[in-house]
Amino acid sequence: MEFDLQPTGTPVDAETRAGVLANPAFGRVFTDHMVSAQWTRERGWFDACLTPYAPLTLDPASVVLHYAQEVFEGLKAYLQPDGGIAMFRPDRNAARMVRSCARLALPPFPEDAFVAACELLVRTDRDWVPDGEGTSLYLRPFMYADEVGLGVRPSDSARFLLIASPAGNYFSGPLRPVSLWLSQEYVRAAPGGTGAAKTGGNYASSLVAQQEAIDNGCDQVVFLDAVEHRWLEELGGMNVFLVQDDRTLLTPPLGGTILEGVTRDSVITLARELGYTVEERPVDVDEWRKGATDGSVVEAFACGTAAVITPIGALRWPGGEAVAGDGQPGAVTTELRTALLDIQYGRRPDTHGWLHKVV
Ligand SMILES: *Cc1c(COP(=O)(O)O)cnc(C)c1O
Repeated sequence: MEFDLQPTGTPVDAETRAGVLANPAFGRVFTDHMVSAQWTRERGWFDACLTPYAPLTLDPASVVLHYAQEVFEGLKAYLQPDGGIAMFRPDRNAARMVRSCARLALPPFPEDAFVAACELLVRTDRDWVPDGEGTSLYLRPFMYADEVGLGVRPSDSARFLLIASPAGNYFSGPLRPVSLWLSQEYVRAAPGGTGAAKTGGNYASSLVAQQEAIDNGCDQVVFLDAVEHRWLEELGGMNVFLVQDDRTLLTPPLGGTILEGVTRDSVITLARELGYTVEERPVDVDEWRKGATDGSVVEAFACGTAAVITPIGALRWPGGEAVAGDGQPGAVTTELRTALLDIQYGRRPDTHGWLHKVV
């Protein structure tokens, strides 16, 4: 896929940009450019281009606005010690987007074009990569059905877009454990549903549960399985791990109802290298509740691209609470977080070829 280059004539001025980069929030300010491509069933992909970041024009009857036929991705580019920029495992996001598209009856966006689009945008907007501790350029590829019409069937046209936003820490302020609300009523995904696809609908249906978490004084919601309401699944947008007896990590298995996180996969690989046993197996939530009380579950953490590895303090439910360890960031969580960040920022050897150099 060849991208037609139509760069902006009016980039954001250096002073304004410097102000943004000095204190980037998450997903509030976007860079000067975006990448897009159009698909129709007849023509396949065409009109791939890099253009100034700008609002879209959407017909009110566009399929996505009514039936949520949409997928997205999220990955980051990091400033390296030599002044270059590298993305973290973009091939994994490219492959996952293809799988998400298959589930949402959207056309696959070619994996090599996905990576090329990310490279192009990062290279073009390289001055937007922040250099502060823990900062990065967050890339948001997405695709939506833009056929006009209210008939319920897979869209005959779709649009791929890629935008970028300088990112600071997802949870603002210094690293502190998040508290989780164990949703009693709501589930995130069911067998046969869309839980393994990165699609906006999963987020839409999690928002009321997330609000319930906040109303109960918690940072995030954690979901149980839809069938037995017993097995740990994941957070609204992060995978979850428990640390047992110091050397064993537990995480729910991939099985169609949880998202196959790139961070999750990286953590499993790094943990095994560091000498931990990692068990991907169903985790009964009572194992967490009891384990936190009897001391066998010593730490818990959540992981995802946006928030990296975030320690979990309290797990709360109506009338109860369990806190693994002392509620502070644990040694294992901290070790894994440091190992992952050190690779992403080029501070430790990238023995797995996870970094994809852009410039
Ligand atoms: C994106 C996402 C994750 C984390 O995936 P990463 O590839 O690690 O960023 C976890 N759960 C859900 C529901 C997600 O959408």
